[in-house]
Amino acid sequence: MARYTGPKCKLCRREGEKLFLKGDRCYTPKCAFERRRYPPGVHGPTSRRKLSIYGMQLREKQKVKRIYGVLEAQFKKYFELARKMPGNTGENLLTLLERRLDNVVYQLGFAESRAQARQFVRHGHIRVNGRKVDIPSYLVKEGDVISVKEKSRNIPAIVKSVEARDLQALPAWLSLEKEKFEGRVVRLPVRADITHPINERLIVELYSK
Ligand code: SF4
Repeated sequence: MARYTGPKCKLCRREGEKLFLKGDRCYTPKCAFERRRYPPGVHGPTSRRKLSIYGMQLREKQKVKRIYGVLEAQFKKYFELARKMPGNTGENLLTLLERRLDNVVYQLGFAESRAQARQFVRHGHIRVNGRKVDIPSYLVKEGDVISVKEKSRNIPAIVKSVEARDLQALPAWLSLEKEKFEGRVVRLPVRADITHPINERLIVELYSK
């Protein structure tokens, strides 16, 4: 599946907020958004205009796509799936994205960003219930056990990331045994588990036109 390979910090500047796409760097003064809080492009700091309703809906959709590293066609598929599920479409959409394996690997702290998590999954370092799963979009289920392949547990990037994972900040729907490089889906995520400020209603309105 295709993915965005351009400069990540530009995406934060375009969306006007930190999307935390680069792991540790996002928490340091090197963060590009901290230094240039305006959209990329030749017009510089004066180029942020008041958005129309359509503009706000579009930006919210782009923001969520960028956070989860999903391109348009795949995002649309998630939306269609969310629409067919019982309950609130916007909430369904976000919880589906949250259940992606690359996101779970990131949330468990096996990687410092979703992009790195995606790479670890693609390269076969991740196991689900003891079996190799190399599809970043795999949707985890309640009770799934996500672990790092035994031979991959000494990869410096994985070790560093796991050591740095603050268990207090672990989402309530996941549990983690750091020393075993193993996490579990305690329950499926709900809307309240997603802490990044997102107005999913705007996305539903955009696709409902
Ligand atoms: Fe965004 Fe992280 Fe780059 Fe800062 S360092 S602009 S939060 S991707």
